[in-house]
Amino acid sequence: MFRERETFLIFSTDIEVATLAKNIYADNAATTRLDREAFEAMKPWLLDEYGNASQLYSFSRKPKAALKKARETIAECINALPEEIYFTSGGTESDNWAIKGVAFSNCDRRAIVTSAFEHHAVLHSCEAIERLGCPVAYMWPDINGIITAENLDTYVTDMTLLVSVMFANNELGTIQPIQELCNVAHAHNALFHTDAVQAVGHMEIDVRKLGVDMLSASAHKFNGPKGIGFLYIRKGMDLRPYADGGAQEFGMRAGTENIASIVGMAVALKKNIESLDQNHEYVISLERMLLQKLNQSGITYIRNGGDHTLPGIISMSFDGKDGEAILHRMDLMGISISTGSACDSRNTEISHVLRAIHMPDSLAKGTIRISLGKDNTEEDVESIVVALKKILK
Ligand code: PLP
Repeated sequence: MFRERETFLIFSTDIEVATLAKNIYADNAATTRLDREAFEAMKPWLLDEYGNASQLYSFSRKPKAALKKARETIAECINALPEEIYFTSGGTESDNWAIKGVAFSNCDRRAIVTSAFEHHAVLHSCEAIERLGCPVAYMWPDINGIITAENLDTYVTDMTLLVSVMFANNELGTIQPIQELCNVAHAHNALFHTDAVQAVGHMEIDVRKLGVDMLSASAHKFNGPKGIGFLYIRKGMDLRPYADGGAQEFGMRAGTENIASIVGMAVALKKNIESLDQNHEYVISLERMLLQKLNQSGITYIRNGGDHTLPGIISMSFDGKDGEAILHRMDLMGISISTGSACDSRNTEISHVLRAIHMPDSLAKGTIRISLGKDNTEEDVESIVVALKKILK
């Protein structure tokens, strides 16, 4: 792969950047590197202690104890009770479960309120229940990507069963006023779910303080393994099981537990939570440096998402430019970033998130997302700015 890049660069104007010694990963909102300690903690459960946690013999005792400990650790990280943590295969499953599980529970109310810029795991789950007769209302955020309590209040009625609003948007990084939104839902006796996939492990989250009824999380967004996550379900909430079968996950999600990944997730989350302030400060310093250097370079851009965004998620638009072309040219220089629009062979499709904040097409097409994480360095930031300067000037 590297050879290919070198060959291309010889014939392109990017030749200086070909000297980059390593690939630069600046797409941490898409996924993160597995933490080494988490990886080490996973190994015994794959190789030696491979017993099925549901069995009664002594060989299953250790996996069973590991499962219990991981559940306790994760619960502690978000101030939940261990029995409120249900392991899933990740954010998508948690979102599907929360929405469909509520919609299929026995209840006179059927209406759901969500936002138009949720992740597709929520939006497509809502579309699925809409086809089964549950009315869904989609709220529009403001131009900065914020859903206000006042806005929500105009949508929720006494027929609303569930409100689902994401904690932090994956494209813009905007953080929603979850506690206020939750209060509005509860004032109408509606339940509240938040897709906190981008936020868990990156922000302090206290489910008791927030008052949420359900919260989705995914390990690979906080340096845990892929294919594992959890759904917080407030004790006492009436929710249909996600998968019928065995008695795993308190009879709510059948299937033999993935102990190694669950343990890895708990180690990664605990580690991130313990160094939250430090990581925050570091990533914000990288973000500031990037913006400062871009400003000094004279490149004109618009920063999206307002003032209250997750540290490290930088959505920026270059008027009249092509975000996808920028992504590909950055890729050829060894830098991974994301975009807000995707081209197919016929047209450029602007993401539903940028549509939801009513971004004009010429800006939306020129939108990229750089997401920095704790593994990035100042040198990475320097290289990203050099690359952007070359591409945009
Ligand atoms: N929700 C949000 C906000 C996300 O950013 C993602 C992943 O990008 C998901 C849900 C899906 O999570 P997973 O990849 O664990 O299925």
